[in-house]
Amino acid sequence: MNIFVSGGAGYIGSVYVEQALNAGHQVTVYDNLSEGHRSAIDPRAAFVQAELSDEARILESLTASKSEVIVHFAANALVGESMQNPGKYFGNNVGNGVKLLNAAVGAGVRKFVFSSTCATYGFPDKVPITEDTPQRPINPYGESKKMFESVLDWYQRLHGLEFVAFRYFNAAGASGRFGEHHRIETHLIPNVLKVALGQASQCEIYGTDYPTPDGTCIRDYIHIMDIAQAHLLAMEPGRKGFYNLGNGGGYSVREVIQMCEKISGKKIPAVEKPRRPGDPPRLVAAADKARNELGWNPKYPKLEEIVSTAWEWHVRHPNGYPD
Ligand code: UDP
Repeated sequence: MNIFVSGGAGYIGSVYVEQALNAGHQVTVYDNLSEGHRSAIDPRAAFVQAELSDEARILESLTASKSEVIVHFAANALVGESMQNPGKYFGNNVGNGVKLLNAAVGAGVRKFVFSSTCATYGFPDKVPITEDTPQRPINPYGESKKMFESVLDWYQRLHGLEFVAFRYFNAAGASGRFGEHHRIETHLIPNVLKVALGQASQCEIYGTDYPTPDGTCIRDYIHIMDIAQAHLLAMEPGRKGFYNLGNGGGYSVREVIQMCEKISGKKIPAVEKPRRPGDPPRLVAAADKARNELGWNPKYPKLEEIVSTAWEWHVRHPNGYPD
């Protein structure tokens, strides 16, 4: 298939592109490199460096590449920043996303696969979280993704553009070649591994008084290779709807730090800080729908495998990507 990947130079996009190419597909990466990195683009892919706001350029690229499927990763994804600058999130994640959709309709694309998030659920009524759990986002990031889910639903109904939206839980890990390098790093695992690499003297634990067994937040970490696998399955005709992607377990912040110590063999001092605003105590996915309907079969469900692959990548790329 010919696949158009927005955000293919980003963390999750880069690994999906690698897997799609390995599976024999042709890939065009469309990325403005604001968050992504040139060297994170698999050299076998075609690359268009352009803005998501440029609908004419998207349409031209879709047509030239004869793309049948769009996989849309490009987005702003920092909760804290979205609270400071909501307009950036609604403008890019919703407004520019709609431009991509309009170009998709114009070019006759048949399938749209979207990166949504468990942040659309906010503070869930119950865990594990199923797809029919009420969505009540508590920040503009989650709201922008929920809004785009609704737009997708309307485009499917009115334009016949079939979609799959994946609500990722906590994406982590690395492929042999591509890994996590955010210019501003807020995520737990890379920040903890920075201490093991000797790039920081201590890590921080945001909140130790949550109603969890050790007082720290529990998250469902999911390997980006497993996320990529789900996207390949979603491209099959007839597959549509909303799917959670998580392992259904969950690990606390302290458990993650302990695992990073075990894998790296280094002592990782941690300092206890106040809660980070907007963090629910426990976010764990029920992902049976993706397993049953898509045949999704995560290969790296254990935290040990997730942290090991991340550690190996960071050891080989201590400063991340060069560009
Ligand atoms: N966290 C932490 N220290 C850090 C980064 C994150 O204690 O340096 C906590 C954060 O409060 C949350 C969990 O680790 O409970 C996962 O946070 P992350 O930012 O990795 O992902 P999120 O769940 O926000 O998508």
